[in-house]
Amino acid sequence: MKAEDFRQDFPIFKGNDYIYFDNAATSQRPQAVIDAVADFYQKSNANPLRGLYDWSVDATERYEHARSTVAKFIGAKESCEIVFTRNTTESMNLIAYSYGLKNVGKDDEIVISVMEHHSNILPWQMVCRQTGAKLVWLEPDEEGVITEDEYKSKITDKAKIVSIGHVSNVLGVTNPVKEIAAYAHDKGAVVVVDGAQSVPHMKVDVNEIGADFLAFSGHKLMAPMGIGVLYGKKELLEAMDPFLTGGEMIEYVTRDSATWAELPHKFEAGTVNAADAVGLEAAINYIESVGFDFIKEQEHKLTRLLMDGMSELSYIKVYGSKDPNKHCGIVTFTMDGVHPHDISSVLNEDHVCVRAGHHCAQPLMQFLKVGSTARASLYFYNTEEEVKRFLEVLKGVRKVMGYGD
Ligand code: PMP
Repeated sequence: MKAEDFRQDFPIFKGNDYIYFDNAATSQRPQAVIDAVADFYQKSNANPLRGLYDWSVDATERYEHARSTVAKFIGAKESCEIVFTRNTTESMNLIAYSYGLKNVGKDDEIVISVMEHHSNILPWQMVCRQTGAKLVWLEPDEEGVITEDEYKSKITDKAKIVSIGHVSNVLGVTNPVKEIAAYAHDKGAVVVVDGAQSVPHMKVDVNEIGADFLAFSGHKLMAPMGIGVLYGKKELLEAMDPFLTGGEMIEYVTRDSATWAELPHKFEAGTVNAADAVGLEAAINYIESVGFDFIKEQEHKLTRLLMDGMSELSYIKVYGSKDPNKHCGIVTFTMDGVHPHDISSVLNEDHVCVRAGHHCAQPLMQFLKVGSTARASLYFYNTEEEVKRFLEVLKGVRKVMGYGD
């Protein structure tokens, strides 16, 4: 199969010439995902986990089936280790509030890196504010790599939580989470992995990388918006208090107390997002039919073409590694004399979609000493023709802005 063949599965690409290079923000949805959600509403829509009648039982079964598909997809031992959330952000907050506040104290440390997305920074700032713990920052070298020396010098016996993005949404670099996790475990810390940018692009197995918690969003791997995942080791989740309270998450309630439902329901208060969980299952089935080998191969090929083309433009600066294979399809750049917002707006005139701004990673922008950047992020359904047209259009941006080259 070729990228062009897979594109046929995506209704949004039909009948227009848009080049969608903002896949790190959200991916597009294949028909199979759209159909799975519609099918849920058309055939089994009822409030899951409540009713004793056919439709509700069916809705519950489909929801729980989706959970077990997610568990297998990331190598979780049991389905109850999968909590459905809205997105990575909610998963991170759940860990911070329910695990962090309970297990971190005044003289403790929480270790993150400067390349984290805000959703893997702000929850830990909150925990530090409330407990008096210290936030410790790992910094990458010029190629965007967190070296062994760096993490070994910053993760000490004081670390209670080490929370690391698997793939940076700005530099595209894959962090050595497995090695960091092994070292952090030796020091007695719990390891949280932000998989928002890795799970859609590579096979992620929680046991292989040694994650105690893993968070990711469905919408970046072709599932609907509004469904996310928190994986947590059973013994950790069991010892945690609920994040939100209300319906569905209780065992028994009296006037002045309550006991909690079994895992994972303890963490899923209120009516759940069953249709989108079913959509996530369809997305996982779809991604597995494409295969991570193809995804990697296509992303490498396109990223090489893109970075080779950019390297010929003296006014473009690309951030992160010089090796296209180390970008996970993400190419963040600036253009001399042109603000990233102008790059994005001018590209849009030619139906090219790229992101511009701080990418919810302001500490990284400060570290790179740049206010904002433009970012082209690719996925397996993008094509060589698109990259070639993108490069042509990119040259035109400078002309539009009044430069002669
Ligand atoms: N972490 C990373 C690395 C991300 O790229 C993103 C999304 N840009 C998030 C977390 C947050 O994801 P969401 O907005 O779906 O919660």
